[in-house]
Amino acid sequence: MPEMPEVETVRKTLLKKLRGYKIESVDVYYPKIIESNLDEFKKLSNKTIKDIIRIGKWLVFDLDDIYMLSHLRMEGKYFIKEKGTKAGFHDLVYFHLDHDTDLIYNDTRRFGALAIVDKDKLYDYPAIKKMGYDPYDEKLTKEYLFEKYQKTRKYIKTVLLDQTIFSGLGNIYANEVLFASNINPYRPANKVTLDECQKIIDNSRKILKKATEAGGTTIRSYTSSLGVTGRFQFDLFVHAREKEVCKVCGEPIICEQINGRSAYYCPKCQSK
Ligand SMILES: [Zn+2]
Repeated sequence: MPEMPEVETVRKTLLKKLRGYKIESVDVYYPKIIESNLDEFKKLSNKTIKDIIRIGKWLVFDLDDIYMLSHLRMEGKYFIKEKGTKAGFHDLVYFHLDHDTDLIYNDTRRFGALAIVDKDKLYDYPAIKKMGYDPYDEKLTKEYLFEKYQKTRKYIKTVLLDQTIFSGLGNIYANEVLFASNINPYRPANKVTLDECQKIIDNSRKILKKATEAGGTTIRSYTSSLGVTGRFQFDLFVHAREKEVCKVCGEPIICEQINGRSAYYCPKCQSK
């Protein structure tokens, strides 16, 4: 599943290639991927890609008077190809652009989402509306987190994935942030101290920044928008390192399921 740094890489790559390109027409081969009304979605024709921004893990295409929202979920990818390429089985949406170019939305799992919204309605869109602060938002403070965490006894690992508190940490970086903060994934959220809340914020920013600079972490089938694989490898301390030794203390890394998601941690560095 692409995480925020990967989505940021996709955003930058698409923007660099496609800024100023006009969408001439759209072919939707899998209507279920479109969250908004399908006829309305066709309003994209004749719009120009002015900008692409990111809110959490949503890509937001700025198209003259409307926005197109795109969430890649598990396996969504964009490909930029020369016009006239035949659609493959997993190519769900074709955006025919000028400059002899097609932008193709491909999704083997078909869990992604595309929608259009009017410009003044962006923050009313349900998925955007309920999203918590971006990790870089200055409103994300230790006091804010502490107050939220006080209200729940769920495991901190699970709570870190709750995008309504603060957005941007998926499973990989939640594991890494807890390791960097020396917090055991099974700690109830209401037992996380105010100082540890600051550590969580600092480490989230640091780790996401490092991963973004590296172009995102390539794990499993994730490829960047141009279909490049394996080019970026971010140095992970615990995630997907089961049975390897901890780079800090030498203890074997443990992997356990917590609420259906793999939690990787070092039992010694994260004993509490
Ligand atoms: Zn360790």
